[in-house]
Order: sequence, then C-alpha cells, then structure tokens
Amino acid sequence: MSVPIIVWFRNDLRLADNPALAAAVQDSATHGAPVIPLYILEDEATDATAPSSARALGGAQRWWLHGSLERLGACCTRRGSPLLLRRGDAGAVLEALVAETGAGSVLWNRRYAPALAARDAAVGERLKERGVDVRSFNAGLLAEPWTVSKKSGGHFKVFTAFWRHLAATLSPPRPTRAPATLKAPKDRPAGDALADWTLLPTKPDWAAGLRERWVPGEVAAQSRLAAFLDGPVGAYAAGRDRPDQDGTSALSPYLAFGELGPRQIWHAARHAADARPELAPGIEVFLREIGWREFQYHLLHHVPDLPDEPLDRRFAGFPWRTDAAGFRAWRRGRTGYPIVDAGMRQLWETGWMHNRVRMIAASFLVKDLLLSWQQGERWFWDTLVDADLAQNVGNWQWVAGSGADASPFFRVFNPVLQGGKFDPEGDYVRRYVPELAGLPRRWIHQPWAAPAEVLRKAGVTLGKDYPHPVLDHGAARDRALTLYRTHKRRA
Ligand code: FAD
Repeated sequence: MSVPIIVWFRNDLRLADNPALAAAVQDSATHGAPVIPLYILEDEATDATAPSSARALGGAQRWWLHGSLERLGACCTRRGSPLLLRRGDAGAVLEALVAETGAGSVLWNRRYAPALAARDAAVGERLKERGVDVRSFNAGLLAEPWTVSKKSGGHFKVFTAFWRHLAATLSPPRPTRAPATLKAPKDRPAGDALADWTLLPTKPDWAAGLRERWVPGEVAAQSRLAAFLDGPVGAYAAGRDRPDQDGTSALSPYLAFGELGPRQIWHAARHAADARPELAPGIEVFLREIGWREFQYHLLHHVPDLPDEPLDRRFAGFPWRTDAAGFRAWRRGRTGYPIVDAGMRQLWETGWMHNRVRMIAASFLVKDLLLSWQQGERWFWDTLVDADLAQNVGNWQWVAGSGADASPFFRVFNPVLQGGKFDPEGDYVRRYVPELAGLPRRWIHQPWAAPAEVLRKAGVTLGKDYPHPVLDHGAARDRALTLYRTHKRRA
C-alpha cells in the first residue's frame, strides 16, 4: 500500500527525537508508504480576531524560522523526501493536501499554547471526519501538563513542589535517531519557495547581529548542547548569573523552535553527569532550569488566560502609567541606567538577552517606569529569537509580582547594585554600551554620579553621548511601593 503519510512539522523542527516522524517512518517501512514532510506558515498576523495565545511570530523569530526551515529542508531532501512548504490556514491546507495526494494519515507533535492546542484538535477532528488517520505525539516536554498533578489533586502553583514531584517521577523515553531515509511520493506536490515567504528583513536589514550570533538548526543545536555539557555546565550554578561571561547554554531558541527537545537534553545531561561526576552539581541546577520551562507550560495549560490576565487577581486593574517617551527609552536602551540599556541593546542586536538582565530590565519597566508588563512582553515577543508564549508571559508575570511563585512586587531590582554584583568589572556594559567603555568600574553602573573629571577623561558628556537617567531609581521605587499599597488596600 502506498497511501502517503503527511508529517506536519511545527515547533519541532528536527529529525532526531521526533516521535511523529519516527512513527511515520515506521509505518512507511511496514507498508511502503511515502512520507510527505510539511511545514505550513500560518499567518495569524492577518487575523485580528486570533486569540492572543495564537499570535504571529515576531520579527526575530521570522528570521530564525527561515534559517531553520532552510536547514530542515536540506536534511529532508538528503534523505529522499523534500520538505513541502505551504502557506495559509492549517486546516484548509491539510484538507487540500490530503485530497490532492490521497494521504491516509496526518501525524504531528503536540503544541501547548491553549489557542493552538484547540485549533489543532479542531483540525484533527475535521480530518478524522474525512476518514484520515490522525495521530499526535509529545516531542516538546518532559511531561505534558495533564500528566502532572498534586497528590491532593489539581495543578501545581509553586515551582519547588512541581519540580520535586517531577524530578522524582520522571523517566523520559530515550530519544530516537534521525531516520536514514524518507521515501518520497511518486508525484511530488508543488509547494512554495522559502524565499517567497520573505521571512528575512530587507528594508532595513536589521539582522546582521543575529547572523553573527546564531546558527539556527538541529545540527547547531546538537553541537551547542555538546559544547556546553563538555565543561561549561560545571560552573553553571554560579556562572549562570553573570551576563559578562558565557555561562549559560544559549539553547533557548533551539528549544523554542524544537530543533532540540528537552528529552535529548535530559539524557545527554544525565550521561554527562555519569561520565564526569564533577559536573553533576552544575547539571542538577541546569536541569532545574529545564524544569522551569516545563512549569511555565504547566501553568499556561491550566491557566489559559495567563497572557492577558494577572495570575494573582489582586493585580487586576492595577493603575499602570502610560509614558510613550519612557517606553521608547527602554526599548532603545537609552534609560540612562547602563545595565538596563546594555540588556535592551543586547536584545536588539542579537535577539537574546541574558536571564539576569531580563529580570533587571523587566523590573525597570514594570516597577520603575510603572508600565504594564504586557507592553514589555510584547516587545520581547517581537525581538527575542527564543520568544515562547509560556516562558515569556510566565516570566513577565513573575517579575511583575503577579505570577506563580512570583518575586513580590515590593522587591524592586536596584539597577546599580545588580550591575555591580553581576557585572562587577562592567565588561557587559562596555560591550553593549560602547560610549561608556572608557569609564572605570567604580562608575560604570552609575555614570551620573561620576566626578566631572572622570567623565571628561572617559570622553563621556552626559545628555550628549549617553542619556541622563530618565528617572531617579529611589524616588521611582517609593512611587511604585505607594501605588502598590494603595491598590492592594482597594483590591
Ligand atoms: P540556560 O540558563 O542555559 O537554561 C537552560 C534552559 O532552561 C533555557 O534554554 C530555558 O529553556 C530554560 N530556562 C532557563 N531559565 C528559565 C526561566 N527563568 N524560565 C523558564 N525557563 C527557563 N525564555 C524563553 O525561552 N523564552 C522567552 O520568551 C523568555 N522570556 C523571558 C522574559 C523575562 C522577563 C524573563 C525574566 C525571562 C524570560 N525567559 C524566556 C527565561 C530565560 O531568560 C531564558 O530561557 C534564558 O535566558 C535562555 O538562555 P539560556 O538558554 O542560555 O538559558
């Protein structure tokens, strides 16, 4: 029997450890069925009624997607069945392709953002009504949200308890290898050319920093993981908080696009810990962060309105300010607070920001500028190569004080102290805010306090080369706390 099997790729852009693809290849071997690997560009951006958890990719991720599809396409072609590209409403595209090719099965790996999961379920139902065999798999999580619950019932609301439970019970299946060959259909369906999707920015081309920093794709993901587990992970417990060092894995965009899966990370990390016990403490901390990723998906699944509403309902109706100039200064890295500005410029330049600085910059937006976390979340969504709804929303709410396990609202990050502690020499600031490069470490995180002579020697004229602070942190902190207390009394 040679009824084709469609494998619908989404945010699982890899050939290894891909259960939907592995199942298709197995069926193909048994029945001689051809395999059609398919990617559909779903243009939610054009649909203003789309729920916010089904939003379109941001600009940085469109850049990444191009590189990822290019590489996945080349891998599929090498194995015998090229990746088919189609654009439009996923349900309609699939139904048309089934009709065109006579495909008998459509296989995919599950997505977890509530609106996407609901859409996938509806697509599946429609295909089943047409007699198509529809199967879905888990490629993206160590444990899917509905498989984890508290002993007393219900979902976890606190990370520590969630992770204690999960780490003790987990035994993720071993990742499968990439298939050696893919049998192509006799008549190859026509698809789009990747270049016609114009995922890459042209006018202007703002992606130079992204090209310099990243290589998308499964192969790069694997070598990044191997390089990290080969040593740097040993110092992760302390190094992960230092933006001036390469102390973290930088695997987040690969995870966001599914070029690498958490099960691959889990098994590779466990293997590294067994082979080199001196790395084990760092590996435990690293896997705990993978646990945070799981926890955010768990939360979003159980609290689907998380992208729009504060998890802690006492924050509903919080009187956020509007301040277009302040928001612009924050986005452009011109707040006058060097660690915040370095982070925002790193984000713009490379599509990524160090986790410690994400917390500092987010705190500055929400607590110093008193702008809503949703505004910041949207900016991150558009500029991060690793943008992921569950992670972005969960972390923004955490910083804002309204999320799960959140840092309380009254804990306001002090950008000067944070800079001094986590970028002690000022190297991170010097790299991304080069106009301050000549300042000695004592003043690098607070140039406004530097003596005139020091500024002159460093070639810095405040207000000209680098902005005066847009606000006074101490006064902004007091303002935030007063507002918070008043709101809490009313809520
Ligand atoms: P590593 O330190 O090497 O950690 C390994 C992996 O663990 C990461 O790749 C990531 O998958 C996971 N992880 C690490 N920290 C966290 C965390 N705090 N929460 C959840 N998972 C974590 N991460 C995203 O992937 N996408 C986002 O859109 C995103 N938005 C964020 C917004 C804010 C305001 C903050 C404070 C954090 C956000 N994070 C987000 C979490 C975190 O900053 C990144 O996952 C991390 O910086 C990625 O770098 P890395 O791969 O080197 O991390």
